Amino acid sequence: MKDYFCPVCRSQLRIDDQIVLSAKSPKNEQGLIFLSAKIGDYSKKTHPDFEIREGEEYKFYCSVCHAQLNDEEKPNMVKIKLEEEGTIYDCYFSNIAGEEVTFKVRGEEVEEYGFHKERRRKYFDVPDEYKKYL
Ligand SMILES: [Zn+2]
Repeated sequence: MKDYFCPVCRSQLRIDDQIVLSAKSPKNEQGLIFLSAKIGDYSKKTHPDFEIREGEEYKFYCSVCHAQLNDEEKPNMVKIKLEEEGTIYDCYFSNIAGEEVTFKVRGEEVEEYGFHKERRRKYFDVPDEYKKYL
């Protein structure tokens, strides 16, 4: 099982098969959001009072320390840490509701997932030898 943790406070963000974060809409509506811990699964859950609207840009925060997780250098990317079999990766996903993009990055190693990955590929130098498998 993969573990996801906050890059700032290093608290665990995964409970069972979901990642628990806090999110805020452009209109400052905020709430908790559950994202699937399975890479490539873009299902999400919120309370009915906190409706996620497709196409809107959200800010994401650590559910423990409330640090903002939107990446400053890569617009529209949210970054958390992923630990898999003792190896730590940066895991990026889109802050735009409905945009299916995930990048798993460790040094030169870049894995990309999701229907809309080409939109954000410019932020990552995806080596040619990986591209053919994706
Ligand atoms: Zn944190």
